[in-house]
Amino acid sequence: MKRPGSPGLFHGQSPLPIEPGTPLGNIYAMILRPGQDTPEAPLVDPFGRAISYIRVSVTDRCDFRCVYCMSEDMHFLPKGDLLTLEELDRLCSAFVARGTRKIRITGGEPLVRRGIMTLFRSLSRHLTSGALEEITVTTNGSQLARYAQELADCGVKRINVSLDTLDADKFRAITRWGDLAKVMEGIDAAQKAGLSIKINAVALKGFNDVEAPDMIRWAHGRGMDMTFIEVMPLGEIETARADQYLPLTQLRADLTDHFTLQDSDYKTGGPARYVSVKETGGRLGFITPLTHNFCEGCNRVRVTCTGTLYMCLGQEDAADLRTPLRASESDTLLMRAMEEAIARKPKGHDFVIDRTTHMPAVGRHMSVTGG
Ligand code: SAM
Ligand code: SF4
Repeated sequence: MKRPGSPGLFHGQSPLPIEPGTPLGNIYAMILRPGQDTPEAPLVDPFGRAISYIRVSVTDRCDFRCVYCMSEDMHFLPKGDLLTLEELDRLCSAFVARGTRKIRITGGEPLVRRGIMTLFRSLSRHLTSGALEEITVTTNGSQLARYAQELADCGVKRINVSLDTLDADKFRAITRWGDLAKVMEGIDAAQKAGLSIKINAVALKGFNDVEAPDMIRWAHGRGMDMTFIEVMPLGEIETARADQYLPLTQLRADLTDHFTLQDSDYKTGGPARYVSVKETGGRLGFITPLTHNFCEGCNRVRVTCTGTLYMCLGQEDAADLRTPLRASESDTLLMRAMEEAIARKPKGHDFVIDRTTHMPAVGRHMSVTGG
């Protein structure tokens, strides 16, 4: 079954989708890594989707309080509940052994977790060995000036920086605590360190819709991709979601007054769909969990800083991986728990934002499971 040098399916970045009912042997053959002759059974869910991508939230804390993400008065986990950095490394490594090719470190704000560079440094061994294709980060940018070079030294090549406006006052209003100048310094430092940056903005009605063309010109002018995200009904916040929600179908239509948008096949392994903007030559992504559900090709699961595995961002079902992780030095129990959890991965989420639905789809905030 060895396929030396085979690029394997994940090298093309396309999440399988495998037809339901495909024999497991065929799936192994598709996902064997170069030089790997025996497959550690990859994690494949009941719909034939191989789990090749984990998003790991390393802290629920943050130095911002974005109005769509957190309430002003958040209660955070006691530090003792968190997995240590060594435990996070072990958990990530167990996923890598079972077919994960891409890890995104997120939060809360991942770069505010004390000692976080230790985790990046230790995980980078999987990049060196070729077991892992990519380690990426989603950050609010506040600490990037300090850490960008170290991230690059650990083998990180691409990062996502969340930025919803280019106006300093509006930035302070939306993040409650953020300082735009510091984020801009961070972006400068990241580009200097050679990191590719994608700017992520949550599309917010009456807030950044009018600014979107300028943000696109700015990002593309600096050689950065730009992606808009539909706001998702996660966690209780002060504002009504329906007041924030801007369908990206509408934003996209509005943008055609300013730009020529050309469909593109570009994929990063995440849920964004891309177009090229003819006038800027840059790439523009849309993440549309509401107007266009992208669950069918989902290759992802999320792990929180307490070792809770969420098989879907938009569902409550979860599995505790901390108990089996701590119960034994061997990974056998942990692997069993991972297998059982993936066997329960649902087909997809069912987000709704309208004036009659007042409950969030799930009670936890985005900062728990990370973006
Ligand atoms: N603190 C980091 C940051 O802001 O990039 C990482 C964590 S944050 C939860 C990850 C992403 O989720 C950010 O791009 C943020 O804008 C987005 N986000 C937070 N709450 C959201 C929501 N309710 N709907 C859609 N996106 C959300
Ligand atoms: Fe913090 Fe990111 Fe949530 Fe903003 S979106 S509050 S930066 S975790």
